[in-house]
Amino acid sequence: MKFDMHTHTIFSDGLLSPRELVDLGVNIGLNGIAITDHDEVGGIDEAINRSKFYSDFYIIPGIEFGCNMNDEEVHILGYFIDYNNIELMNILKKLHESRFTRAGKILERLRDLDIIISIEDVLKHTDKRNIGRPHIGRAMIEKGYVVELEQAFELYLDRGKPAYVERYQLEIGETIYLITKLSGISVLAHPGLLKDRSIIEYCIEKGIMGIEAYHSKHNKVDEEVFVQIGRENNLIITSGSDYHGDRDILGEPYVDLDKIPEMRRRL
Ligand code: AMP
Ligand code: FE
Ligand code: FE
Ligand code: ZN
Repeated sequence: MKFDMHTHTIFSDGLLSPRELVDLGVNIGLNGIAITDHDEVGGIDEAINRSKFYSDFYIIPGIEFGCNMNDEEVHILGYFIDYNNIELMNILKKLHESRFTRAGKILERLRDLDIIISIEDVLKHTDKRNIGRPHIGRAMIEKGYVVELEQAFELYLDRGKPAYVERYQLEIGETIYLITKLSGISVLAHPGLLKDRSIIEYCIEKGIMGIEAYHSKHNKVDEEVFVQIGRENNLIITSGSDYHGDRDILGEPYVDLDKIPEMRRRL
């Protein structure tokens, strides 16, 4: 069963609605997708409802938490989570509030750089409660300050750049523990994007259950290294496109869920 295990919708920084994403998944011949919005579960029900429209298409309820370690973004995926859990709702609320406050601070920094963007300009690109830097970048493109998202990050929004502002993030250990508590399966997302590869070991020490060895931004060498690490540490080995709707291709790479009994069983 072909699954794309890493996708984003308009409930975070993706461009498609959950319904459009499901339709696209069906059209390209996938058997299912995991919805893994950043710090958000709001799109899952819509995707599940749409999937029922088809006889053989499945949704895995998921999330992608953004953590921070040694000044690096570390992303951790949670699959099959109990996404209506109250404790999770409270944590997400706190994360969303911090994202909102941070957006205001980023806009102030941009204003100091003579880049004038209002919060309304940004909110147009969001579901209005879960603001990410890509939404700010898209507003910058719309206003003609940059030509593409990469450029907005490279010049202003990335860590270390003039408009970068920290936000509240969970610790890696806290996140893995939370996912486990939500009866989910925790997977280290795109380890190939980590500069400090010792963070992988740290995640393993903290009990991470899987590793996203195959990802749209990984090269062949990365893949081999991560498959090896996964095997040595008895981790679930997964794949994901990290589809956002403007870059990458849904289902590339996909995973054959029949080869992951721990997940296949839970469908
Ligand atoms: P945030 O959630 O606000 O921390 O923004 C992080 C998100 O921005 C990531 O999940 C990516 O989707 C996106 N992103 C990060 N770096 C870049 C980049 N260089 N170009 C385009 N998008 C990026
Ligand atoms: Fe993203
Ligand atoms: Fe990510
Ligand atoms: Zn992602």
